[in-house]
Amino acid sequence: MRLFALLALLLAAGLSIASAPVVAQPKSAGAPDPKLIEDLVVGNHVLADLGVVDGFGHISVRHDKDPNRYLMSRSMAPALVKADDVLEYDLDSVAVDGKGRALFLERFIHGEIYKVRPDVKAIVHSHSPSIIPFSVSKTKLQPVYHMSSFLGLDVPVFEIRDVAGTGSNLLVGNPEIGAALAKALAGNTVVLMRGHGSVTAGTSIPQVVFRAYYAEMNARLQAEAIKLGTVTYLTQEEAAAAAKTNDALVARPWELWKRKAMKTE
Ligand SMILES: [Zn+2]
Repeated sequence: MRLFALLALLLAAGLSIASAPVVAQPKSAGAPDPKLIEDLVVGNHVLADLGVVDGFGHISVRHDKDPNRYLMSRSMAPALVKADDVLEYDLDSVAVDGKGRALFLERFIHGEIYKVRPDVKAIVHSHSPSIIPFSVSKTKLQPVYHMSSFLGLDVPVFEIRDVAGTGSNLLVGNPEIGAALAKALAGNTVVLMRGHGSVTAGTSIPQVVFRAYYAEMNARLQAEAIKLGTVTYLTQEEAAAAAKTNDALVARPWELWKRKAMKTE
């Protein structure tokens, strides 16, 4: 009897392995805090309003109920995102319930960074224009004023050729490239992507939006300053002190940006 049961079990296991889907459907971590969804929708609209994203680019946030899940919209222009468009993903960037909707090709940016940076709670990927020249030249992006002090003095540049060769479409279209990008980001707040854009990491939606915006502003101001001659950059100590001060002030511009971006609905 026992042997029969064992055989039946083995047979069932064999069958289930044979019919198992290639990608297991992840389970939901449950409903996130509604405030998190609201902030994510607002973050999408604010980034579009500030010109950090256009038809392209995305923002995600780590799920408040499970660090192994994150939330991000389906593939669409950020300015059009509504609460219903927000999907839950596991850290392999598989949607918990995609309902057949199109997903961002570059969602692996988010999942792979969340895997290796437990301190990161929100991520922005954009192609904001002023940053691009710093991704393709030898001039390093460096903080020229206190608002961009979070950049630190050694902003890395991700070279996709190192992982995808010289014939890629430049997109972070699979987990392997995403993991290489996360490695390039290392412990920094921003990583530039050569010939493509940048990724900004933060501890909250308002903070990551603040950082993505002021990274873009810094790039614009730094390029202007370079035209005038020798530039004086923040020291490591100034950058650290100013970043600490600014982190406590993120709510002020957030409320302003939120009101402006949501008023244009
Ligand atoms: Zn991109």
